Amino acid sequence: PPTVILVIGMAGSGKTALMQRLNSHLHMRKIPGYILNLDPAVLDVPYGANIDIRDTVNYKNVMKEYNLGPNGGILTSLNLFATRFDQVIRLCEKERNPPLQFIMADTPGQIEIFTWSASGSIITQAFASSFPTMIAYVVDTPRCMSPQTFMSNMLQACSIMYKGQLPLLLVFNKTDVTDHQFALDWMKDYENFNEALESDSTYASTLSRSLSLVLEEFYCNLRTVGVSALTGLGMDEFLEGVKACGQDWHRFYKPELDRRQ
Ligand code: GDP
Ligand code: MG
Repeated sequence: PPTVILVIGMAGSGKTALMQRLNSHLHMRKIPGYILNLDPAVLDVPYGANIDIRDTVNYKNVMKEYNLGPNGGILTSLNLFATRFDQVIRLCEKERNPPLQFIMADTPGQIEIFTWSASGSIITQAFASSFPTMIAYVVDTPRCMSPQTFMSNMLQACSIMYKGQLPLLLVFNKTDVTDHQFALDWMKDYENFNEALESDSTYASTLSRSLSLVLEEFYCNLRTVGVSALTGLGMDEFLEGVKACGQDWHRFYKPELDRRQ
């Protein structure tokens, strides 16, 4: 069965650009993939989505009809779409020749609309109970050069993994601008991160020190990859990371799912 990639990350981290890059990479390598756009508010989808939430719900109309602001409109659109998600799963399951290897889903710009909503959970669970499913957490690497932004991002990733109960691949994007080695060094060795904070003695930085000790456990089991959605750097490594997460799903997550059923 294909592995499902849920692409999640802060607004502007490059989720949509990564989807576009993945799409062309799969075409180039002749690997069959299937693409979903779950962002009802996106104006331009720069890749050919096989399933697009915008074909089913019109977010502007939803806003008008239910008298909602933009975020409420996006959330309600996602809710409406989630009620019919069994149809999406059926389309994904359809036999194909050659069979699909990857199913990729782009999520709404505002991260919490997917990660902290009932419909986000429904969609995630629907995938995870039918296919090996993983989360690709996209990070804006240049912005992470600030230790505090780095720490916020790691906490966000940790919380999403915890809530989603799925394997997670940490994707350092925009490595054409900044190499992600500094981040790997921070994750590998607490002292490195400590040094970066040295010049800063504010409360937040003291907290960051303590948090980085706590996160050590999270870091050491985490799969990471550096990519550039812009240049295509690291795409083969990305797919390897996805496959490894798919195997994690078989080993650790599937047995738990079976146990609960
Ligand atoms: P999203 O909100 O997560 O979907 O982010 P977008 O895909 O819309 O990208 C946000 C901005 O970052 C856009 O201006 C992109 O051109 C830029 N961007 C995305 N990926 C890369 C990358 O790998 N390198 C560089 N230099 N810019 C990127
Ligand atoms: Mg986007």
